[in-house]
Amino acid sequence: MSTSAPAPRPATDSVIDRLVSANRAYAAGFTDPGMDARPVLKVAVVACMDARLDLHAALGLDLGDAHTIRNAGGVVTDDTIRSLTISQRALGTRSIALVHHTNCGLESLTEEFRHDLEMEVGQRPNWAVEAFRDVDQDVRQSMQRVRTSPFLLDTGDVRGFVFDVTTGLLREIDPAGPEA
Ligand SMILES: [Zn+2]
Repeated sequence: MSTSAPAPRPATDSVIDRLVSANRAYAAGFTDPGMDARPVLKVAVVACMDARLDLHAALGLDLGDAHTIRNAGGVVTDDTIRSLTISQRALGTRSIALVHHTNCGLESLTEEFRHDLEMEVGQRPNWAVEAFRDVDQDVRQSMQRVRTSPFLLDTGDVRGFVFDVTTGLLREIDPAGPEA
Protein backbone atom coordinates (compact mmCIF):
# COMPACT_ATOMS: atom_id res chain seq x y z
CA MET A 1 0.00 0.00 0.00
CA SER A 2 1.22 3.45 -0.94
CA THR A 3 1.28 6.18 1.66
CA SER A 4 0.95 8.94 -0.95
CA ALA A 5 -2.15 11.12 -1.19
CA PRO A 6 -5.20 9.64 -2.90
CA ALA A 7 -5.62 10.34 -6.60
CA PRO A 8 -7.62 13.50 -7.34
CA ARG A 9 -11.35 12.88 -7.70
CA PRO A 10 -13.03 13.63 -11.02
CA ALA A 11 -14.84 16.95 -11.06
CA THR A 12 -18.19 15.54 -12.19
CA ASP A 13 -20.42 13.39 -10.04
CA SER A 14 -20.26 9.74 -11.00
CA VAL A 15 -22.70 6.99 -10.18
CA ILE A 16 -20.17 5.84 -7.60
CA ASP A 17 -20.62 9.14 -5.75
CA ARG A 18 -24.26 8.18 -5.46
CA LEU A 19 -23.26 4.81 -3.98
CA VAL A 20 -20.96 6.48 -1.47
CA SER A 21 -23.64 8.88 -0.30
CA ALA A 22 -26.16 6.02 -0.01
CA ASN A 23 -23.60 4.25 2.14
CA ARG A 24 -23.43 7.20 4.54
CA ALA A 25 -27.19 6.91 5.09
CA TYR A 26 -26.89 3.12 5.50
CA ALA A 27 -24.09 3.40 8.04
CA ALA A 28 -26.02 6.03 10.02
CA GLY A 29 -28.67 3.42 10.82
CA PHE A 30 -26.28 0.48 11.12
CA THR A 31 -25.48 -1.31 14.34
CA ASP A 32 -22.84 -3.99 14.67
CA PRO A 33 -24.72 -7.28 14.25
CA GLY A 34 -22.02 -9.02 16.30
CA MET A 35 -21.79 -11.92 13.88
CA ASP A 36 -18.79 -13.94 12.85
CA ALA A 37 -18.07 -14.82 9.23
CA ARG A 38 -19.74 -18.23 9.24
CA PRO A 39 -23.11 -18.09 7.42
CA VAL A 40 -25.98 -18.81 9.84
CA LEU A 41 -27.90 -21.06 7.41
CA LYS A 42 -24.73 -22.90 6.28
CA VAL A 43 -25.67 -22.36 2.63
CA ALA A 44 -23.82 -20.93 -0.37
CA VAL A 45 -25.79 -19.55 -3.32
CA VAL A 46 -24.17 -19.34 -6.76
CA ALA A 47 -26.10 -16.99 -9.04
CA CYS A 48 -25.92 -14.86 -12.16
CA MET A 49 -24.88 -11.24 -11.69
CA ASP A 50 -28.12 -10.13 -13.43
CA ALA A 51 -29.37 -6.79 -12.04
CA ARG A 52 -32.99 -8.03 -11.96
CA LEU A 53 -32.20 -10.75 -9.45
CA ASP A 54 -32.29 -9.50 -5.84
CA LEU A 55 -30.95 -12.66 -4.28
CA HIS A 56 -31.57 -11.80 -0.63
CA ALA A 57 -35.14 -10.66 -1.22
CA ALA A 58 -35.98 -13.49 -3.65
CA LEU A 59 -34.75 -16.20 -1.28
CA GLY A 60 -35.75 -14.63 2.04
CA LEU A 61 -32.16 -14.28 3.15
CA ASP A 62 -31.10 -11.95 5.94
CA LEU A 63 -27.72 -10.44 6.68
CA GLY A 64 -25.30 -13.16 7.75
CA ASP A 65 -27.42 -16.05 6.44
CA ALA A 66 -25.56 -17.18 3.32
CA HIS A 67 -22.60 -16.81 1.03
CA THR A 68 -23.53 -15.37 -2.35
CA ILE A 69 -21.17 -16.02 -5.24
CA ARG A 70 -22.09 -14.24 -8.47
CA ASN A 71 -20.73 -13.98 -11.99
CA ALA A 72 -22.03 -13.67 -15.55
CA GLY A 73 -24.38 -16.64 -15.90
CA GLY A 74 -23.88 -18.03 -12.40
CA VAL A 75 -21.36 -20.33 -14.04
CA VAL A 76 -19.42 -22.87 -11.99
CA THR A 77 -15.90 -21.88 -13.05
CA ASP A 78 -12.65 -22.78 -11.31
CA ASP A 79 -12.97 -19.53 -9.39
CA THR A 80 -16.51 -20.42 -8.30
CA ILE A 81 -15.14 -23.74 -7.01
CA ARG A 82 -12.41 -21.78 -5.20
CA SER A 83 -15.06 -19.73 -3.38
CA LEU A 84 -17.25 -22.78 -2.65
CA THR A 85 -14.27 -24.70 -1.30
CA ILE A 86 -13.37 -21.87 1.07
CA SER A 87 -17.06 -21.48 1.97
CA GLN A 88 -17.33 -25.14 2.98
CA ARG A 89 -13.89 -25.92 4.38
CA ALA A 90 -13.09 -22.66 6.17
CA LEU A 91 -16.52 -21.18 6.89
CA GLY A 92 -18.75 -24.15 7.57
CA THR A 93 -21.37 -24.09 4.78
CA ARG A 94 -22.85 -27.38 3.55
CA SER A 95 -25.76 -26.79 1.13
CA ILE A 96 -25.29 -25.27 -2.33
CA ALA A 97 -28.07 -23.61 -4.35
CA LEU A 98 -27.50 -22.64 -7.99
CA VAL A 99 -29.68 -19.88 -9.44
CA HIS A 100 -29.73 -19.15 -13.16
CA HIS A 101 -32.58 -17.18 -14.74
CA THR A 102 -34.77 -16.53 -17.76
CA ASN A 103 -33.69 -14.00 -20.36
CA CYS A 104 -30.00 -14.22 -19.40
CA GLY A 105 -27.53 -12.10 -21.36
CA LEU A 106 -25.42 -15.20 -22.01
CA GLU A 107 -28.19 -16.67 -24.19
CA SER A 108 -27.50 -14.02 -26.83
CA LEU A 109 -23.73 -14.60 -26.90
CA THR A 110 -21.66 -17.34 -28.53
CA GLU A 111 -18.03 -18.36 -28.23
CA GLU A 112 -17.55 -15.97 -31.21
CA PHE A 113 -17.38 -13.33 -28.49
CA ARG A 114 -13.90 -14.62 -27.63
CA HIS A 115 -12.85 -14.63 -31.27
CA ASP A 116 -14.06 -11.06 -31.78
CA LEU A 117 -12.26 -10.02 -28.60
CA GLU A 118 -9.03 -11.57 -29.83
CA MET A 119 -9.37 -9.76 -33.17
CA GLU A 120 -9.87 -6.47 -31.35
CA VAL A 121 -7.21 -6.63 -28.66
CA GLY A 122 -4.71 -9.11 -30.11
CA GLN A 123 -4.95 -11.53 -27.23
CA ARG A 124 -7.22 -14.54 -26.71
CA PRO A 125 -8.83 -14.64 -23.26
CA ASN A 126 -7.98 -17.76 -21.24
CA TRP A 127 -11.59 -18.08 -20.07
CA ALA A 128 -14.60 -19.51 -21.85
CA VAL A 129 -17.61 -17.27 -22.46
CA GLU A 130 -19.88 -20.09 -21.19
CA ALA A 131 -22.68 -18.97 -23.49
CA PHE A 132 -25.70 -21.30 -23.61
CA ARG A 133 -28.98 -21.86 -25.47
CA ASP A 134 -30.90 -24.05 -23.00
CA VAL A 135 -31.02 -22.63 -19.48
CA ASP A 136 -32.25 -25.92 -17.94
CA GLN A 137 -29.31 -27.79 -19.43
CA ASP A 138 -26.99 -25.02 -18.25
CA VAL A 139 -28.21 -25.50 -14.67
CA ARG A 140 -27.70 -29.28 -14.98
CA GLN A 141 -24.15 -28.76 -16.17
CA SER A 142 -23.46 -26.45 -13.22
CA MET A 143 -24.87 -28.99 -10.75
CA GLN A 144 -22.67 -31.66 -12.33
CA ARG A 145 -19.55 -29.50 -12.02
CA VAL A 146 -20.25 -28.94 -8.32
CA ARG A 147 -21.03 -32.59 -7.62
CA THR A 148 -17.87 -33.84 -9.32
CA SER A 149 -15.47 -31.35 -7.76
CA PRO A 150 -12.84 -33.17 -5.67
CA PHE A 151 -12.29 -30.11 -3.47
CA LEU A 152 -15.71 -29.75 -1.87
CA LEU A 153 -16.44 -31.29 1.49
CA ASP A 154 -20.17 -31.89 1.07
CA THR A 155 -22.10 -32.25 -2.21
CA GLY A 156 -25.06 -34.11 -0.73
CA ASP A 157 -27.39 -31.10 -0.86
CA VAL A 158 -26.87 -29.39 -4.23
CA ARG A 159 -29.98 -28.05 -6.02
CA GLY A 160 -30.40 -25.96 -9.15
CA PHE A 161 -33.09 -23.45 -10.14
CA VAL A 162 -34.18 -21.05 -12.87
CA PHE A 163 -35.47 -17.69 -11.59
CA ASP A 164 -38.18 -16.17 -13.79
CA VAL A 165 -37.38 -12.45 -14.09
CA THR A 166 -41.02 -11.67 -14.97
CA THR A 167 -42.77 -13.53 -12.11
CA GLY A 168 -40.05 -13.70 -9.45
CA LEU A 169 -40.62 -17.45 -9.10
CA LEU A 170 -37.96 -20.14 -8.89
CA ARG A 171 -38.37 -23.33 -10.93
CA GLU A 172 -36.35 -26.31 -9.74
CA ILE A 173 -34.35 -28.25 -12.33
CA ASP A 174 -34.26 -32.04 -12.22
CA PRO A 175 -30.58 -33.04 -12.40
CA ALA A 176 -31.54 -36.23 -14.27
CA GLY A 177 -32.92 -34.27 -17.23
CA PRO A 178 -36.27 -33.33 -18.76
CA GLU A 179 -39.17 -35.82 -18.51
CA ALA A 180 -37.02 -38.03 -16.30
ZN1 LIG B 1 -27.80 -13.91 -16.38
